[in-house]
Amino acid sequence: IIQIDKLDKSFGPLKVLDGLSFDVMPGEKLALIGPSGSGKTTILRILMTLETITAGHIKVCGEQLYHMQRSGHEVPADEPHLHKMRSHIGMVFQHFNLFPHKCVLDNITLAPMLTKGEVRAKAEQRAMELLEMVGLADKAKAMPAQLSGGQKQRVAIARALALKPRIMLFDEVTSALDPELVEEVLLVMKRLAAETDMTMLLVTHEMGFAHEFADRVLFFDKGRIVEQGSPDKIFRHPSHERTQSFLRKII
Ligand code: ATP
Repeated sequence: IIQIDKLDKSFGPLKVLDGLSFDVMPGEKLALIGPSGSGKTTILRILMTLETITAGHIKVCGEQLYHMQRSGHEVPADEPHLHKMRSHIGMVFQHFNLFPHKCVLDNITLAPMLTKGEVRAKAEQRAMELLEMVGLADKAKAMPAQLSGGQKQRVAIARALALKPRIMLFDEVTSALDPELVEEVLLVMKRLAAETDMTMLLVTHEMGFAHEFADRVLFFDKGRIVEQGSPDKIFRHPSHERTQSFLRKII
């Protein structure tokens, strides 16, 4: 469902992704782990077309995400095409990014109404189902400021799901949370992984969760995949010295 081929990304002189290639199968649950600065977040942002790329090719659902301009720079595909591609992918960020002046329900219904032209009644019905799923049906009329971090993040997950994406990207969704709030968010994600056939990419520093959640783990360092495999292989029997030393430090 995602094909990444020889992807390079630089910020000025800094090469963040270096000839990166990997594929993701439909329905696969993938965990991206590795040291800070290894480029994990950048990959998710590129898939969301929040960043341009320096070289390489990316296909999502069989279609190119970026096109080469005459200048040699890659640019996101043209607008209508991009719009369609983006609708395949939802992303949940570390810092929630809820609209602060909108209530929970409006946060969830806004995008389906604006981008898909859904009527309010239908969008609200779906939003309530999603709030039920994340355990927050009673907070529909609350403002984001009245919610805990864990609740905000569960709303952010519901909001991303409202567009019915085929692929969900989770970028360190628990790292801004107090430890006692982490579990409630992870539970929602576990349920989502178990109950849907959505493709999910997860950037995380929660190794225990990555182990439970993922079908496959990719270990990154310096913009490359050093090692990949099943959670058992990567966490119990890492073969690369860099993976071993990373896991020793963090677990
Ligand atoms: P972390 O686990 O800390 O989030 P990461 O593996 O997700 O790290 P990225 O956020 O992808 O790493 O960042 C990779 C590198 O790119 C870092 O050195 C970062 O400082 C740099 N970087 C990211 N975004 C920009 C930007 N907009 N401009 C310049 N440099 C950037």
